[in-house]
Amino acid sequence: MDRRDFIRAGVLGAFSGLVIPPLSVFASKDDGQEERKVPLGAGKRIVMRFFPYELKLRHAFNLAKYSRTTTPDVQVEIGFDGLVGYGEASMPPYLGESVESVTGFLSRLDLGQFTDPFRIEEIHDYMDSVAPGNNAAKAAVDIALHDLTGKIMGQPWYRIWGLDPAKAPATSFTIGIDKPDIVRTKVAEAAPYKVLKVKMGLDNDKELVEIIRECRPEVPICVDANQGWGDKGKALEMCHWLSERGCLFVEQPMAKENLDDAAWLTERSPLPIIADEAVKRLPDIARLKGAYDGINIKLMKSCGMHEAYQMATLARALGMKVMLGCMTETSCAVSAAAQLAPMAEYADLDGNLLIANDRFDGMRIIDGKIVLPGDRPGIGVTLL
Ligand code: MG
Repeated sequence: MDRRDFIRAGVLGAFSGLVIPPLSVFASKDDGQEERKVPLGAGKRIVMRFFPYELKLRHAFNLAKYSRTTTPDVQVEIGFDGLVGYGEASMPPYLGESVESVTGFLSRLDLGQFTDPFRIEEIHDYMDSVAPGNNAAKAAVDIALHDLTGKIMGQPWYRIWGLDPAKAPATSFTIGIDKPDIVRTKVAEAAPYKVLKVKMGLDNDKELVEIIRECRPEVPICVDANQGWGDKGKALEMCHWLSERGCLFVEQPMAKENLDDAAWLTERSPLPIIADEAVKRLPDIARLKGAYDGINIKLMKSCGMHEAYQMATLARALGMKVMLGCMTETSCAVSAAAQLAPMAEYADLDGNLLIANDRFDGMRIIDGKIVLPGDRPGIGVTLL
């Protein structure tokens, strides 16, 4: 047991009261190829452990409704037959989950009853029977199971899904609401990114876009109003103004409940209107058809990769655009989402770049574009 495992085991034991599984089940350093050399033994059972891991943000994160410098997060590891899969729950406060709720939910799970980690749908049904909601906690288990099963097959999920990694789009990099000089600094730091995203919904919306245009006259800009525009007339005026300034689309301009106004705006807007807060899971999509041009899929809302893939498939079948987003997360959950990137027109997978204490190496951004980690199996991450 190295020092990191020892501390982790101590935190786990103290926090959850769980019995720590034999460490032989878990590799302390994950390298997909290394792990496949571990002899496959008898007595196969799924074991899970988890621990809180607070994410430290590089800059204070300012949105229309609040500001913060950390994000609560829980890391999950699922072991089976000598292999380990990694997962993660990230809990931005507005989604209503917390370290306490996630660890409380995970403590109630008995995954040892399952002898086949490929039964992901059955495990989701079981998790739903334990408690409704808890989407981020369920996502953590789902991501770890995908990582594990990908490792068992020795293949990354984009390949299992039949996707071409070269089709992954550029990712946007988010510039939060801030004072003009800080915005200029952030835009300078974002020089490697080919698409910028701005958060709106305060009084200085136009100023933010104008500062970015001063610094980078040609860069495409995505706009996220985070439900901040109260009035559909104002929203339409903003869409025209933004369209004239080279913006690509507008995410969640008005309150998520207001489908009629969203439909009114979508019909008239020169820019595509994308649902974010208005969409969480698969059954939401059909009623959003017509009210929005597309949906922003995030693993922490969709309960993980299993349903996110179904959501992307359904949205495309309905002629809607697919955007892939994330929370502030480590490279674990971001790399899991990136496996789906070839199905998306737009991607906003920068959550790992916004934190100072990542635990994983995974998907990379090269020349602004999402680059999946080659043949690395599962979700394609290794521990740093
Ligand atoms: Mg958004």
